[in-house]
Parts: sequence; structure tokens; C-alpha cells
Amino acid sequence: EAIQKPHSTFVFYTDRLGEQLEYRLKLQRDLDKAIEDHNLQLNFQPQFDIQARRIIGMETLIRWNNHGNWVSPADFIPLAEQTGQIIDLGRWILMEACLFCSQLFDKGYRDLVVAINISPRQFQHPDFITSVKQAINLAEIPASSIELEITEGVILGNEQDTIHALQTLKDFGVMLSIDDFGTGYSSLSYLKQFPLDKLKIDQAFIRQLEQNEQDQAIVRTIIDLGQNLNLTLIAEGVEKSEQLTLLQQMGCHEIQGYYFSRPLPADHLLQFLQQNNIQSA
Ligand code: C2E
Ligand code: MG
Ligand code: MG
Ligand code: MG
Repeated sequence: EAIQKPHSTFVFYTDRLGEQLEYRLKLQRDLDKAIEDHNLQLNFQPQFDIQARRIIGMETLIRWNNHGNWVSPADFIPLAEQTGQIIDLGRWILMEACLFCSQLFDKGYRDLVVAINISPRQFQHPDFITSVKQAINLAEIPASSIELEITEGVILGNEQDTIHALQTLKDFGVMLSIDDFGTGYSSLSYLKQFPLDKLKIDQAFIRQLEQNEQDQAIVRTIIDLGQNLNLTLIAEGVEKSEQLTLLQQMGCHEIQGYYFSRPLPADHLLQFLQQNNIQSA
């Protein structure tokens, strides 16, 4: 009996592994079809300037309704990274987000910046920069209306290539931000080498900001660091007025989070802009 136990445990694990593999393969096939059928939707979460008290832009967040089930991008984006599906998917997201930006432009909202998440594998693809330029040119919008959010994961790899790619994008005119700042493993030295505009403070530090003094110390330090480097600071995941008050006291420029608005489908976002009396020229 004592010998049987580890064996049955092993069988249990392989079954589970097989199940997981099957689930992933199915998800992969479903995602292929979703990309093909354009069964994906972009949501946009408004970003708010604390001092100026106005909306300055929005982050593009993908949503996938797979046979009636909402699959979180936290689950399928990493999968799409592994399978390479992120290349086609990423191109589609870029184009759709740029087209939405041009729609905003046509409605007179000319100062809003549309931020787009870029995965490491997408960024490292040889055609990436071309696809960014193409999407912006096709949509006939200024490059400065688009912000690319990259994570520190992009940087791990060839630093010289990364600097070169970012400089090319910056020269073209797009805005560049570091997403989930403070949770990566890379050194801070890249901050002085990369042509960045903004740091997005990860929501892990914001979640309990009002009751956790360590989070307060970390966030205060990130804000000071960013300000000393002339970067714009935005806090992610702000849900409570107490968090907003603290962030304002610490000198944070912008916030994004449920406190202000959830991510919204395009038509709701347009309604939200109207309701909040955003100037359209
Ligand atoms: P992220 O880029 O850091 O996006 C912020 C996440 O926080 C989003 O989750 C957003 O819905 C959520 N969020 C915003 N405000 C709040 C808040 O107040 N409280 C809480 N608890 N959450 C808030 P989402 O949409 O599930 O996306 C998860 C991650 O998936 C993103 O993290 C990003 O890494 C990735 N992702 C989403 N859309 C795309 C995309 O179009 N392309 C790529 N490459 N990645 C994407
Ligand atoms: Mg992001
Ligand atoms: Mg983030
Ligand atoms: Mg994230």
C-alpha cells in the first residue's frame, strides 16, 4: 500500500496535466477562431489628471467572450504569447485602437491619448515598428495620440536592441510608458537610457495603500523617482477616495481605476466623455 500511494499520486498528476493541456489546446483553437471571426472586443478605461481634474486618455483592454464565457486577458494573453498568436492578435488590437482614436478625433476629442498594451514577444517581432507606423498612418492620427505600454519583461533580453527600437518609436512620435512599474526584476538603470514618458505604478501597491505604510513608502519613493526623472506618474487600480487623496498628497499626476471608471466598451466610453463634459473642439 505504501508503494502504491506515490504511484496513484503520479497518475493523478498526469491526468490533471493532460486535462490542462487539453484545455490549453482548446483555448488556443478557440482563440484562433476568435481572431479570425473578430470575436474580440476592445474596452477602454479612462485615465484622469488629478490636478487638472480632467480625462486625459484611456487604456485599451481586450475582452474575449468565448461561447458565453468571459476569458480574462490575464489568462489568454500569456497563452497567446507562448503560441505566437499574439502577433496577429496584437496587430489587430493596434489597428482597432488606432481606428477608435481616429473616431475620437472625428468627434472633436483631439487631446485624448489612447494607450495600448504591448507584449514582449509582440515588441520583439521584426515587423513590430512597421506595424505601429502602418496602423497610425492608416488611421490618419498623430503618433502622439498613441501611447505604447511595455512591461519590464520587454527589456530583459537585448538592451541595446530595446533602446534602439524605443528610440525609433519615440522619433516617430508615440508616447511610451512602463506598465506594472515596481514588480519587474530588471535594474533601474534602463530608466535613464530609455526615452520614456510615463510610469504606471502597479496596482499591487495601491490595493491597500490607505492602510499599509510600506505600500505608502514604496509609492512615495516611485513618485519621487519618476518626478526626478521628469516622467509622468499614473497610479493603476485606484478604487477608493482615500487612495486618491493619498496619491494627490504624494504628488502623483494621474489615476486610473474603478474609483473613476471601469473599462468601458467604445460606445459607453463616448457616453462617459459626454456626461463628464469633456471639451470637444
Ligand atoms: P494591465 O495592462 O496592467 O491592465 C490593468 C488591469 O487592471 C486591467 O485588467 C484592468 O481591467 C484592471 N483594473 C483597472 N482598474 C482597476 C481597479 O480599480 N481595480 C482592479 N482590481 N482592477 C482594475 P484586465 O483588463 O483583466 O487585463 C489584465 C492584463 O492583461 C493587463 O494588465 C495586460 O497586461 C493584459 N492585457 C489586457 N489587454 C491587453 C491587450 O490588448 N494587449 C496585451 N498585450 N495585453 C493586454
Ligand atoms: Mg496596461
Ligand atoms: Mg498595469
Ligand atoms: Mg498587468
